[in-house]
Amino acid sequence: MTKTIIVSRTAANRLKDGHPWGFRGEIRSERGDPEAGDVVHVTDERHRHICWAFYSPKPLIALRQLTRDPEPPATDTWAARVKMAAELRRAIITSDTDTFRAVYSDSDGLPGLIVDKYADILVVQTLTQGIERVWEPVRDALIEQWRPRGILARNDQKVREMEGLEQEKAIRWGEVPESVEVFENGIRFVVDPWNGQKTGAYLDQRENRLAARTWAKGRVLDAFTYQGWFALNLASAATEVLALDGSAPACEMVERNAAVNGFTNVRTIRQNAFNWLKQAEVEGQRFDMVLLDPPAFCKNKQSIPDGVRGYKEINLRAMRLLDAGGILMTSSCSYHLSEERFISLLEEAARDTGRTMQILERRTQGRDHPRLLGHPESYYLKTFILRML
Ligand code: SAH
Repeated sequence: MTKTIIVSRTAANRLKDGHPWGFRGEIRSERGDPEAGDVVHVTDERHRHICWAFYSPKPLIALRQLTRDPEPPATDTWAARVKMAAELRRAIITSDTDTFRAVYSDSDGLPGLIVDKYADILVVQTLTQGIERVWEPVRDALIEQWRPRGILARNDQKVREMEGLEQEKAIRWGEVPESVEVFENGIRFVVDPWNGQKTGAYLDQRENRLAARTWAKGRVLDAFTYQGWFALNLASAATEVLALDGSAPACEMVERNAAVNGFTNVRTIRQNAFNWLKQAEVEGQRFDMVLLDPPAFCKNKQSIPDGVRGYKEINLRAMRLLDAGGILMTSSCSYHLSEERFISLLEEAARDTGRTMQILERRTQGRDHPRLLGHPESYYLKTFILRML
């Protein structure tokens, strides 16, 4: 018997508009005893077809849209979607790169599935009950598309708890070494898939790191460098790169990565960026280019005012280290900080420094993290390249 979830008019309209989520509070009734991980038929209160979705009764997001077709997803749907996702990456990834996001959850029609490829290792996050249920066909399709040596699950994610799933860090297939060597834009990086932040690296900035090379010159500051991926992408174009991060293990990896590539002009600074930027201004330090790629300061709606103050402060301090012709490349990965608000805080920072700046490039997450039409939450990374006049 078909399992059915009947939703409110608001949810029905949102799902029809292409948004992939239906919320727990929007469920009006259910039929056929649906359970966590089931594919359910979603209808409105007049029993009109809306879509088919993964169901999970516990979390706030109870429904994850799979298709608006009248028929439920066929058994070969999962393999077809992994293949579609692979075709996109094959079209955009160049031969000097072997690390990228191979599956981006709802944006690739695989709700709750993240797959990041690090050379021949796939690091996955399976964050919904539904995707766990279809893991076997998904895994087989990933193996067929990418021929990996191993698949590691980095399911040490809080959202799993909300779904009623366990925390997990485990090999799901093949073998996974302690560290993996990868290439991005022709630069070598050592990645720790077991313990690195996120799945090991911040792959969403790949295209921005390449774009940054166009503007790199002289003395460069890469603040919030993590393992130095921006810093090393710029090292051959710059005379000196200062790579700053608050984390000691991250700084050690920057040094290791610089050595692997033979760069001798990269220096690490383990410090709080807020303090260091303030001190650099007092010392009268000057840079030709400053990069800012902090963690999300606006993690939810409530933290927007504090987050905005944080973004404004680092941007203002960075601007004070630049002379005419200097470049500021600044990012926000906060979904909750709109692009308009980001621009206006940059305007406020420029006004406070009394300087004029041009926007040279307006950029976003790489194309292997596609934004889904109708799903604003899938667009989170905003990056501007500015030049001081
Ligand atoms: N630019 C990186 C990703 C940065 S992630 C890349 O391209 O790969 C954000 C980094 O900021 C993390 O490595 C974290 O350790 C660091 N961080 C967070 N708060 C900080 C602070 N107040 N001062 C310095 N570093 C900080």
